[in-house]
Amino acid sequence: MEPVHIIGAGISGLGAAHFLSQRGIPSIIHEVGDYVGGRAACIRQGAHAFEIGGKNFSSAWPRFNALLDEFGITEFEDQHPGFHIVLNDKLVALEKSKTLTGDLRLATALGPVGALQFRNFLTYARKNADRLNYSSGLIEEVERRWDHATIDKHFTPKLNDGPLRLFSIIMGGAEPSELYPSLMMLFASGFGKGSHHAVAGGIGQFHDKLAKGKTIRFGSRVRRIQTSGGHVSGLVVEDQKGTEMIPTDRVISAVPAHILRQLVDLPAYGRVAFDQLRYFPLAMINVVYDAPVFRDGVHSIMFEPDAPLGHCSANRLHSPHHVRYTLSGKKARDILDAPDEELVGIAEQTFSKRLPINAKRLEVHIARHTGGICGYAPHFTAVKRDMLRAVDTIQGLEIAGDYLEGHTMEGCLTSADLAVARLMDSARAKAVAA
Ligand SMILES: Cc1cc2nc3c(=O)[nH]c(=O)nc-3n(C[C@H](O)[C@H](O)[C@H](O)COP(=O)(O)OP(=O)(O)OC[C@H]3O[C@@H](n4cnc5c(N)ncnc54)[C@H](O)[C@@H]3O)c2cc1C
Repeated sequence: MEPVHIIGAGISGLGAAHFLSQRGIPSIIHEVGDYVGGRAACIRQGAHAFEIGGKNFSSAWPRFNALLDEFGITEFEDQHPGFHIVLNDKLVALEKSKTLTGDLRLATALGPVGALQFRNFLTYARKNADRLNYSSGLIEEVERRWDHATIDKHFTPKLNDGPLRLFSIIMGGAEPSELYPSLMMLFASGFGKGSHHAVAGGIGQFHDKLAKGKTIRFGSRVRRIQTSGGHVSGLVVEDQKGTEMIPTDRVISAVPAHILRQLVDLPAYGRVAFDQLRYFPLAMINVVYDAPVFRDGVHSIMFEPDAPLGHCSANRLHSPHHVRYTLSGKKARDILDAPDEELVGIAEQTFSKRLPINAKRLEVHIARHTGGICGYAPHFTAVKRDMLRAVDTIQGLEIAGDYLEGHTMEGCLTSADLAVARLMDSARAKAVAA
């Protein structure tokens, strides 16, 4: 059987290869880099395995947890039970378990209107969690009601600068003034579902199991998806040896939307839809120190809007000497291109204003996610319909990625599973027609 060609060995591409192999279909993954995992990769450096992006998962995610079971990965570590937010120049605790029952300190910091708005928003998201998705139904009502304006236009300034900015920075590397409420509603609906953990020893184990037995061509950059008569006809691939045209009639794109947009010609409405998705760049700095840096019950901090640091946390609850600094949000973008040493210095300086660092650096790893993290689009369900309709005009092409079913590892796996199912359906339809 001819293999399906997959572009990208991030979790979406690896997931697509896995769901294909479950159906007995071989695949070849083309990966421009020299490692798997993409924006959720786990990079070995010295004695450490640095997670450069996605790592936390929820016990409520069906596909991710089914794969953990299948791979026999059973050792997990709990995620932080809450955050500290810099509000009114002070660190205010936001405990996940108390956001609905009402945390007095948080309510005081937000003021009565802000506290009520926050509570109402979260209550709606949680009550309707099972009815909210990235495709249709209740989410369209949410879009109609809220998406005429960005998040900041709907809530009090303190609520925006505090808890809502926590959501917007974590879910999109962006400000409340840059994202839309429907995305926040989807994100918040998942916030309270299940318990949150990380794989002991790093997410790399998960990727390695997913990648096992798959054919992956590293250092292989797809330049073009060739089409002929409305059908995929091949891939133009560049590697160390040069450029070659690989004939194929089945391709799954598992690269971010802005990359796919450059690889293939889509109808005008599709180009417009793809261009509506916004990506926000960020840098993830892992630093291991020789002594604990987090202390006094603080293990995760969300910084104020004019700080270059968006958020940072201890790598694990039990490793307060290993800090993950995320330089994200509007202010961070001014300095994201600074040299490595300067970037680390800025991160440490900002952090020290809240918790002085009395430790020496042992190891540093910097990952610049220049392509960014997907901040979706207002009225996303209509945008998504147009993206899928446009891709559907090219037979043999399917798309997976974190811009379709949520930008989490579960969202990536869901999009990969659906892409494989659509590919199979169209093959069946073609066979029936013949
Ligand atoms: C800082 C950060 C923290 C996050 N935290 C979490 C978290 O805790 N939990 C969670 O679930 N999610 C989290 N996420 C989100 C999660 O990491 C992403 O949604 C996910 O990794 C995206 O995977 P993907 O396969 O769709 O895309 P990518 O990981 O971007 O994979 C695409 C792959 O395609 C390759 N590629 C690109 N262009 C080409 C080309 N032309 N030819 C060949 N190959 C190409 C790239 O090198 C890459 O390997 C986080 C993301 C970031 C950035």
